[in-house]
Amino acid sequence: MAETLEFKAELRQLLHIITHSLYTHREIFLRELISNASDAIHKVRFDALSHADLLQGDTDWKIRVIPQADAGTLTISDNGIGMSRQEVIEHLGTVAHSGTRAFLQAMKEAGKGTEALGLIGQFGVGFYSAFMVADRVTVRTRRFDSTEAVCWQSDGQGTYTLESCDKPQRGTDVILHLKDDAREFLEPERLRELIRKYSNYIEFPVVLVLETTTDGQKKVTEEIVNQRQAIWLRRKQEVTQQEYEEFYKALTHDTEPPAEVIHYAAEGKHEFKVLAFIPAHKPLGYDWREPQCGLRLYIQRVLIMERCDKVLPFYLRFVEGVVDSSELPLNVSREQIQAHPLLDTIQKSVVKTVLDTLAWMKSSHFDKYIRFYQNFGSILKEGLAKDWNNRDKIADLLLFESLQTPAGQYLTLEQYLNKMPKGQEAIYYLLGESAESLRRSPHVEAFRAKGYDVLFLTDPIDAFIYPYLSPYRGQRLLPADRADSLPDGEVSWEERDRFAALVSFVKDQVPEVAEVRLSRRLTESAACLVQDQHATPPHVRRLLERLGQ
Ligand code: ADP
Ligand code: MG
Repeated sequence: MAETLEFKAELRQLLHIITHSLYTHREIFLRELISNASDAIHKVRFDALSHADLLQGDTDWKIRVIPQADAGTLTISDNGIGMSRQEVIEHLGTVAHSGTRAFLQAMKEAGKGTEALGLIGQFGVGFYSAFMVADRVTVRTRRFDSTEAVCWQSDGQGTYTLESCDKPQRGTDVILHLKDDAREFLEPERLRELIRKYSNYIEFPVVLVLETTTDGQKKVTEEIVNQRQAIWLRRKQEVTQQEYEEFYKALTHDTEPPAEVIHYAAEGKHEFKVLAFIPAHKPLGYDWREPQCGLRLYIQRVLIMERCDKVLPFYLRFVEGVVDSSELPLNVSREQIQAHPLLDTIQKSVVKTVLDTLAWMKSSHFDKYIRFYQNFGSILKEGLAKDWNNRDKIADLLLFESLQTPAGQYLTLEQYLNKMPKGQEAIYYLLGESAESLRRSPHVEAFRAKGYDVLFLTDPIDAFIYPYLSPYRGQRLLPADRADSLPDGEVSWEERDRFAALVSFVKDQVPEVAEVRLSRRLTESAACLVQDQHATPPHVRRLLERLGQ
């Protein structure tokens, strides 16, 4: 007996968009289904490490793509982990992933709807892309450690059915009943093209299964279409730029090539291989998604974790890539692997290489670096507070707008130090909304007059980060709006007498201020507010107020 269940509301919304989507991105359904099949094989391979008997001798890992023209179906079949009935309900229907919401948000980002469709896999809802090409989808699946198989079916219109079925082999078949206008996905040449385009670097064979009839004899041929290279295991000299780019795109689904490729093999005391990328830009919807951090961790080519955050600190979470080590033990749990000290060693090495690469990029491709910085600079800055050992290196990577830099150009701390005039004894900064408004602030007048530059800290995170910056190479950082940051200049007794009445008048008018003082620091404005040396800085005060303190 088939049981009918309803999709969660957000999923229904998502499915509505997918089933009514334009054609532009629909070919990516194949990538998504092959990627799920590959995940499922990785999972069973890992789970069966400790009980190989459950595999029943079937370790001929394969993802089969089977077009059947007469039935109008395309089947993607794997001998991976399979799903239990409960898992089918959880993964293909009832539980609204947080990714669903993030995806819907990204779709709304001004006019980027179709682009978001292409990135559907990154939101954890890639399976549903099947409905871009199929008006009905059947999933038959059996978990590797169970004898019960389940059949899931849906037309993507709000409900799905579940029933028990027969399935002798473990794993999952996804059967797409193609829409009339999607019959191109039955053509072998088109399928080969798509597999090579999107799934070339899947590590298991993606096999195109074709049934041909010659002289009334039916014959089934199987051909492996993808290249299946673990390119991180190859030597750097043997990998072309194009291969790196293709691999990066396959890994991240980014449409642009990465800004930098980092590929090396650590040798000596410890051996591991790293292939990492610094993306050129934030992918669409990046800020909507839950932040993810980590590199793919392999042990001797077996995928252990999709994102191992032990090898990458959170402030470098924009880095994407792969680590492989044959030194880690394979037959233990993920938790034990996560606790392995080698991962710390790998992290140290990755951090060093990434920071060195960024420094190199900054010195040799400044324009490219600016773009990187505009995208990921505020994430990188978190490292100042989190990674004390590398604080100076990170500080060297910062870019600032300042009083003296022309609008839209940037300055580094090093450049600031190098041009400090004689007599200047601190690095001055000012926190605010934008460089444009800070440039007009009365606080900078005196600095302008003295020829001192003032850094403009306009990123919201700056307020929390700058305390970690001081001192930089022996120089204190001082706020330009604090009373003692510059001397007031000599005010003579005669002047004090002359203005005494004015000072007390102003004091009466604004009782909120603690003191009204004559000063020579202003050159254009009549007055400005400064903070007492020991006062709570305004951003901290605002934060405390918000917290109800
Ligand atoms: P994601 O792959 O990002 O998790 P998907 O929407 O592609 O999101 O798939 C949802 C879930 O459905 C997967 O996480 C997995 O648990 C399950 N699933 C999909 N396809 C398969 C498959 N071929 N074998 C086993 N489980 C699968
Ligand atoms: Mg998927």
